[in-house]
Amino acid sequence: MRYKSTRNENEIVTSTRAIINGLAHDGGLYVPDDLEAIKVDYSELIKMSYMDMAKVIFGIFFGDFDAEKISEIVERSYTGKFSGGEVAPLVKAADAYVLELYHGPTSAFKDVALSALPNLMTEAAAAENIKEKILILTATSGDTGSAALHGFSDVPGTSIIVFYPHEGVSETQRLQMVTAKAKNTLACGVKGSFDDAQYGVKEIFRQNLLSKEGVSLSSANSINIGRLVPQIVYYFSAYGQLVGSGAIGVGDEVSFSVPTGNFGNILAGYLAKRMGLPIGKLICASNENDVLTDFLETGRYDRKRELLKTTSPSMDILVSSNLERLLYFVCGSDRVNEMMTSLSETGEYVVSDEELSIIRESFEFAHCGSEGAGRAIRELFESDRYLMDTHTAVAWSAFRQLKAVGKIQTACPCVVISTASPYKFSEAVLKALGFESTGSDEGNMKLLQEITGAEVPGALAQVFNKEVRHGDIIEKEEMSKYVEEHMDKTHAI
Ligand SMILES: *Cc1c(COP(=O)(O)O)cnc(C)c1O
Repeated sequence: MRYKSTRNENEIVTSTRAIINGLAHDGGLYVPDDLEAIKVDYSELIKMSYMDMAKVIFGIFFGDFDAEKISEIVERSYTGKFSGGEVAPLVKAADAYVLELYHGPTSAFKDVALSALPNLMTEAAAAENIKEKILILTATSGDTGSAALHGFSDVPGTSIIVFYPHEGVSETQRLQMVTAKAKNTLACGVKGSFDDAQYGVKEIFRQNLLSKEGVSLSSANSINIGRLVPQIVYYFSAYGQLVGSGAIGVGDEVSFSVPTGNFGNILAGYLAKRMGLPIGKLICASNENDVLTDFLETGRYDRKRELLKTTSPSMDILVSSNLERLLYFVCGSDRVNEMMTSLSETGEYVVSDEELSIIRESFEFAHCGSEGAGRAIRELFESDRYLMDTHTAVAWSAFRQLKAVGKIQTACPCVVISTASPYKFSEAVLKALGFESTGSDEGNMKLLQEITGAEVPGALAQVFNKEVRHGDIIEKEEMSKYVEEHMDKTHAI
């Protein structure tokens, strides 16, 4: 499989080059150049173990590696990383299924992709004969940062700088980042929002500001196909588990409700659908920052609004980068160029009615505020003793809202994608259950553990006792200067 830019179909690169570059040189995102070639016989695939499924899917998208290399990458990425040994266990709760993607090292679903990306990247560098050190620059709304710092820790030939919004992440999320210990890692707060941090990183790439000998820049953000492709696997896994348990027959349609921020997770679902998996609707669930659900309702994407702080901070985003890929698949690169120019010049763009109706064939949408998410957490805990986090609750609520108005067929099972451990957002989850915050995340985690009887994941419980190693906080205009100053100090090993 080769890749082309969403903004220029003539920029064609190998999969290994696409992984290294992260973003295309024209600012576009890499997409497979032949969507027909990703079709699979899903009925065979869903019988396999998670690892074997991953090997087949990686093999399709990353054909520049031979089968042996793919196998090595997958084994290295997933062996022993997920507590309980399963990457994506499916649990029945009330009238839906929950796909728990948070059993990895940092307790958020980002671990699924960021366990694989460093291996894909170092192998891609070897395949492309790149001898330079790879410097990863990443903007995070909270969870990517810790998962990326963890994933790249001590990976030979790489170093990583993570930028997070100074006041936009929870105490636990911040501690997970600023206590990162490996010598090749750096975390830095930016006075601004996630969008500011993401914009800053994109600008550094776009202007090629730091083309310096001996260093090759890349990104761990969900714009990298090396992050997108590992996320496709769990859609097949969920479907396989439903068939395996007898909940559905092979060929039955399943819907997925996805708590959406940068549109990466749900886009992986769209690719799974394009590969042939019988997915009914992909439900795009937004919190109060409902740019995406507005877009899906009206066809107008309008980022000219205030970014609101919510109890689901990993979805507090106004510019959802991966949507560009969907726009490309539906509208083509000329239209994408028009829309992205319009977005940067006027803060908005519009798709035609026809384009919108094509998108709506695959997507449903609903949004839910922090209060509604809190109510969903409490209701599901009281009815089924199942505890979900605030992001998952947004997707849960979206599913319920759509079911109530008949937009999701009752006969079609729905899988709600669970993206974080409830302990990672313990304060909001406690409050949802009707308890007062203890005043610290550490106390809140302990109290939550007493209430639910389910143990706090080990790494989360330990984060409060670790030494803080990264204290830098900068203005958003200083990001490229910061990288320039620190790129030599982050030691590749
Ligand atoms: C990143 C994240 C999301 C949003 O996922 P996207 O792929 O950006 O849409 C949702 N929930 C949690 C907990 C996350 O960390």
